[in-house]
Amino acid sequence: MINVTRSHLPSREKLDTYISQLYDSAYLTNFGPLEQQLTKALEQYLNINHLVLMANGTLALMLLIRGLGLKGEVITTSYTFPATAAAICWSGLEPKFADINASDWTIDPNKIEDLITPQTAAILATHVYGNPCDIEALTTLGEQYKLPVLYDGAHGFGIQYAEQSLLGMGVGTAVSFHATKLFHTVEGGGVIVADSDLAARLKRLINFGIAGPEQVSEVGINAKMSELHAAVGLANLQEINDCIRLRQSHLYYYQQRLDHSGIQWQQWRMNSTTNGAYAPVNLPSEQSLLNVKQQLEVNNIFPRRYFYPSLDVLPCHGAPKNTPNAQHIAATTLCLPLYAELTQAQLDLICDTVLSSL
Ligand SMILES: *Cc1c(COP(=O)(O)O)cnc(C)c1O
Repeated sequence: MINVTRSHLPSREKLDTYISQLYDSAYLTNFGPLEQQLTKALEQYLNINHLVLMANGTLALMLLIRGLGLKGEVITTSYTFPATAAAICWSGLEPKFADINASDWTIDPNKIEDLITPQTAAILATHVYGNPCDIEALTTLGEQYKLPVLYDGAHGFGIQYAEQSLLGMGVGTAVSFHATKLFHTVEGGGVIVADSDLAARLKRLINFGIAGPEQVSEVGINAKMSELHAAVGLANLQEINDCIRLRQSHLYYYQQRLDHSGIQWQQWRMNSTTNGAYAPVNLPSEQSLLNVKQQLEVNNIFPRRYFYPSLDVLPCHGAPKNTPNAQHIAATTLCLPLYAELTQAQLDLICDTVLSSL
């Protein structure tokens, strides 16, 4: 079976080195030595200011919202994973869905202005499949309306935009290190911020609001990353460059072989690197997508309709909104399998099947 993704498992030797440290320290969670080591290593690798590691990416989004004290409405994209909007709702705020740009599939800054009301607290945009949002336009909007611009950077690991880390943009960026993501800690995530006071507050918030022995400064939650999860992250980080290289090479192969008039590729932002996190192909119609998907499944290949349906059409988010691009892209985009261990024969089988089903 070829699934849409396969979690990278680090070498047992590398992992065992960290597990031994854990046995030596008998320190299993609560900002232990491995969690601190992973924080430093990721800050350095990603070239970012402050990373606060957390238990998962959904909590990271909620804590970013909480840490900034947001209330009211958040303008976001409907072409994203359900967690982006769910984190807004679970925080007691309301998502307002702006449409995406039909070519790069990120939130369309021109659709945001109409949704701004006195209740608007922030803009939360997703770098979907790792493609940077229109950062300049969003920054300008944020400044003009005095709204913090936040990013869901769950797909953006390692991306450089204009020679800076994509994950360092905006007031804050939430990341996910879930097992299905490019870089993972099994379950995990974090928030990246430039402001050290905000980072310190986030560290208190993820530890029940505890500010010191016998001192609780505010209502917090438990969202810490354990030492075991940090150990997997440290081992994976040593192998991430090889993983990214292989994924990029597989993606490039797909792009060469599937250079077909029936397939559109996501238009990548200029001045940005890639990370080979996903292989989304846009097909001429939903029927065509269903044909391709079915033929792949006959061959025991399981692609995924990521981000389908467009979140704004879900009954839990009220009546569908005016998001024709998001609804169309969601209905016609299929993610092909992409992970480092794919073989040439598997890549060819996938390409042959896609081309013969179009
Ligand atoms: C995976 C993902 C999340 C949620 O992360 P978890 O670590 O699984 O909670 C949030 N946003 C996007 C865009 C994602 O892809």
